[in-house]
Amino acid sequence: MSLGFSHCGLAPAEEVDEAYMHHYEQWLSEGRQAEMHYMENHLALRRDPRLLLPGARTIVSLTMSYNPGEKPTQPAIAWYAQGRDYHDVIRQRLQILLQVLGVEGRICVDTAPVMEKYWAWRCGLGWIGRHTQLVVPREGSALFLAELLLTQEADRYDTPMYSRPYHEGCGHCRRCIEACPTSALSDEGIDARRCLSYLTIEHRGPLPNESYRHLSECFYGCDRCLRACPHLSHEATPVADFIPSDELLAMSPGDWLQLSPVQYQSLFRGSAVKRAKYEGLMRNIQANNLVHKSLHESDN
Ligand code: SF4
Ligand code: SF4
Repeated sequence: MSLGFSHCGLAPAEEVDEAYMHHYEQWLSEGRQAEMHYMENHLALRRDPRLLLPGARTIVSLTMSYNPGEKPTQPAIAWYAQGRDYHDVIRQRLQILLQVLGVEGRICVDTAPVMEKYWAWRCGLGWIGRHTQLVVPREGSALFLAELLLTQEADRYDTPMYSRPYHEGCGHCRRCIEACPTSALSDEGIDARRCLSYLTIEHRGPLPNESYRHLSECFYGCDRCLRACPHLSHEATPVADFIPSDELLAMSPGDWLQLSPVQYQSLFRGSAVKRAKYEGLMRNIQANNLVHKSLHESDN
């Protein structure tokens, strides 16, 4: 916790549950990953994390909050991307954790083929909600996930909160599904082809017409399902790296339209927003502006 992590659990390193892998492969076969073809790669490693680190005996799953709480945010950008790039921040802190523990291990922060949400469930941190993200009770889903693979065996392991990874903790709640403006969420999970988060960050080329009218609130990511969850806490992250800079907070809609490549480099140095690249971000900003213009015209 002194390194900024909010939850941590341990599970024995073993194969991922067959039913979970089957569900994942079925999701891929339906094309719901859109153009994120990297999700189709390394299925054997995803199935068995021991292949990522020979001799691995333990998986440690950790969460780190990016929840801004009541602090000001830049409304057009998803919370997770408003501060420094989480890959760098979390990796550095996990290196310190390994040193403190005096052990060697493999650090995984989103880039390794690890079934992160499954392991978070398996390590007893929460469950996978209907919005397909990890839900930690009384904290919600504004969380980064990371893992340590260790060759040591633990003297005690955690147990999952529910017997299956999906939805059980959600009960009858469907708020995230109802909050999704594009119907990307359903009882079958998420369809990235319709998700604004995918479309504004990962998708290259023109945005599909049907996504335009939902871009009035955001131009990089979309937190609507995450914010609709009743488990979301109002407590801000203790990690200062994830708090937006004054420069970012000061950007007005007019400033965004005028954003130059040089300003972009300065504003997003060391930021996850670089993933969309300058061209992608400007495509989104212009789409967002078009929506605002047409809303203004229809009001008049
Ligand atoms: S991020 Fe937005 S578009 Fe995507 S599933 Fe959530 S609410 Fe729907
Ligand atoms: S909003 Fe409701 S259904 Fe969706 S993840 Fe949260 S608890 Fe589950």
